[in-house]
Amino acid sequence: MSAILPGATIGILGGGQLGRMLATAAAELGFDVHIYTPEEDSPASRVAAKTTVAPYTDLAAVTAFAAAVDAVTLEFENIPVETLAACAKATPVRPGTKSLAMTQDRSVEKRFIASLGLATAPFADVATEAELSAALKDLGCPAILKSRRFGYDGKGQALIKTPSDSQAALAQMAGHPAILEGFVAFEREISVIIARGTDNAMTAFPVTQNEHRAGILRRSTAPAPIAEDTAKEATSAAATIAEALDHVGVLAVEFFLEPGGKLRVNEIAPRVHNSGHWTQDAGGVSQFEQHIRAVAGWPLRTPHVPRPAVVMHNLIGEDAADWRAWASKPNAQLHLYGKREQRAGRKMGHVTTPAED
Ligand code: AMP
Repeated sequence: MSAILPGATIGILGGGQLGRMLATAAAELGFDVHIYTPEEDSPASRVAAKTTVAPYTDLAAVTAFAAAVDAVTLEFENIPVETLAACAKATPVRPGTKSLAMTQDRSVEKRFIASLGLATAPFADVATEAELSAALKDLGCPAILKSRRFGYDGKGQALIKTPSDSQAALAQMAGHPAILEGFVAFEREISVIIARGTDNAMTAFPVTQNEHRAGILRRSTAPAPIAEDTAKEATSAAATIAEALDHVGVLAVEFFLEPGGKLRVNEIAPRVHNSGHWTQDAGGVSQFEQHIRAVAGWPLRTPHVPRPAVVMHNLIGEDAADWRAWASKPNAQLHLYGKREQRAGRKMGHVTTPAED
């Protein structure tokens, strides 16, 4: 497959911070970037050569965008599959539609993971009160009700501590189909960021440990302080998933690690991922550069294992007001996303520091 050459234009669907960091990585390799986003004045558009502002469902605008670029990629998995398919008629699309189709719906995703012989949390599809009550009998309490589609950062999720919480949890789904997940008493959460090239070559970054608060990632540590066998097993599971999706680009797989060492896949993100941001400062190659290399059909680089370990701290909402303090710390690498408005729960930036700080 022929490589996309410097000077060509890479199209990115999505205009958030991931698109912004992909765009700057692409610029470093000599590419121009064209962002497609429904949002005016998006974080990514402000560092890109060109932007189309239109809804993802405007297939005429999508087709014109795809015709104007040399390859299309994405920074966000909730792009309609039809939008990606429309792009694919005009230009290479990496990753392809299968990566989106298998990861947009939690039930489809879990069945896909199970079909590869990998474990997930126990779950059941739930659309009605009767189904929820049957699923709760089966899975027990506590359990988590999650909308099948469009959930992220803990949105569209309701914890059911006792059966009396069911009605309120179901009301939170607002009539959308959901799944009930049995609660996993995990020891820690980890993720694997893996890249797959157009030549099927794969390289994974060292496994990362992640800490969430209210469903939002707060802190990632790399490498994760886990047994080598567990790290190998997680990396091999991520490779199995990337291969089965015929994925091109970066893919993230989040896992629960149970006290006995059992791994369960929690979620797949068919894109660069927040838990891989530390790679910008300590990965040898960043996940963003690695993704652009894969999309362009270039060789992938071998990641670096940070020693000592590094910690990536997310700056969420008002945390971003501390930027001055972070900027004056000699060992802290500060990254801000240029978001015009600070809102509670909004990812505004991140900082990478050595773990011992
Ligand atoms: P998710 O959006 O599904 O990744 O959920 C966000 C976070 O909620 C996860 O990273 C976990 O910390 C927690 N969580 C989600 N599902 C479960 C589960 N089945 N058992 C225990 N904790 C969970």
